[in-house]
This record gives sequence, C-alpha cells and structure tokens, in this order.
Amino acid sequence: MKFAIIADIHANLEALEAVLSDAKEQGCTHYACLGDVVGYGANPKQCLDIVRDMGMPVVKGNHDEYCSTDVETEGVNAYASAAVDWTRTQLPDEDRQWLRDLKYFRLVTTFSIVHASLDEPKSWPYVFNKLDASSSFLYQNTSVCFFGHTHVPVAFVRDAGGTIRGGKYQKVSIEPGKKYFINIGSVGQPRDGDPRAAYGLFDMDHKTVELRRLEYPIEVAQKKIRDAGLPPRLADRLALGH
Ligand code: ZN
Repeated sequence: MKFAIIADIHANLEALEAVLSDAKEQGCTHYACLGDVVGYGANPKQCLDIVRDMGMPVVKGNHDEYCSTDVETEGVNAYASAAVDWTRTQLPDEDRQWLRDLKYFRLVTTFSIVHASLDEPKSWPYVFNKLDASSSFLYQNTSVCFFGHTHVPVAFVRDAGGTIRGGKYQKVSIEPGKKYFINIGSVGQPRDGDPRAAYGLFDMDHKTVELRRLEYPIEVAQKKIRDAGLPPRLADRLALGH
C-alpha cells in the first residue's frame, strides 16, 4: 500500500494538481493531508473541494484555523494576515465549518499525522531541530509520525536508546525499534530554497518514505495571486522557494 502524504497546500491549485498526478503515477492508492489546505494562495475553495472530495484523513493547520474563524489573527505577519482576511471572503460557511471541524491529530492505519508538533498541536510550535523534535517524540506512540508547518523537509529518528538524529533526506528506511518524525515539505509554498512542490511517498510494504519534488506552472499560480489583489510578496516567494 502506498500513501501520498501531502501538507501545506496553501490554496495553490497548480502545485496540488502536479502532486496528485505524480502520486497517481507512482501508484499511490491512499492519501493523508497534514493541514494548511488554505491560506496564502488564490484557490482556497478549489483546493479544499479536492481534498474533501477525495475523502482523505486531514488534520487542522494554523491557517485552516485562522481562515475558518473570525478571531483576530495575532502574532501573524502582515502578508499572512492579509491572505487570511481575503480567504475568509472566498469560503462559504459550509467550507469554513469543515475546516473548523478538523482534528489536530489523527491516527491513519499504523502511523500518525499532525500539523505542527505532537506535544502542543494547538499552539503551532515549529520543529526545525533535534531539540524541537525531542518534545514531540515524548508523545509519539506510533513508529512513524508525519508533520508539516515549517515547509522544510527534514526527518528525525529516535533510536531505542533515545538518541535523536535528524537532517535532510531523500529516502528514509523505516527500521523496527526506532521512531520517525518526518516533515514531507510543502505542496504549495516550499521554504527550503527549492521552489518545486513537495510531498512524501510512504511505501508501507517496503517501509520507505521518499521525498518527491515536482515542477509545476509557478507563473500561473503567481498571476492568480497578483490578480486577486493578495500581497505581491506571496507570488514572488513561490519562485524563490522561501
Ligand atoms: Zn503552512
């Protein structure tokens, strides 16, 4: 069984389509989404419809939360906040309700998914290094957990003795007795300097997680962002990958 693990789509329809088409070609039959379906990009409604219609398990991201409530966005930068205000006007009540109802954590077959971190999933901490990951590992009851939020692909491994290693990866082999906390990058707004859309291919039979990167028509997504009157910086950054 092959799972496509997707995260941080951020209303980027072109990137989402590229990822889903590659996942299909790669033989993925199952999907899971780590949140932030909306926010930043120009196609929140379309991306939400696709993810919901596919019936995949989804957890809530911070942008899903902001965009589905009317709460003042605190501690969020001006670009993000402008995108939240705009996205709120683009989503009918039933879509906002669907986002509000998303859980912060889910168990999917034998692995788990969370947007930010297992230790404080509702406070949206960023996991960039081994120290950040160590707090999350304390709450991880599955051998594999996938997370998003930073838009930076990285894999952390905790061995039976409690030692944590971590870093960039292309492919990770899941070995017994160890725990894996893996960020599979962002579909719609990569921030690791590589502008290509990212997702994770979890091959459960061969016990591997592969990071996939895909070209997509960035200029189309950029034009939609500019035409929508969203901050131009949100269009520019797609080409830069940060
Ligand atoms: Zn995000």
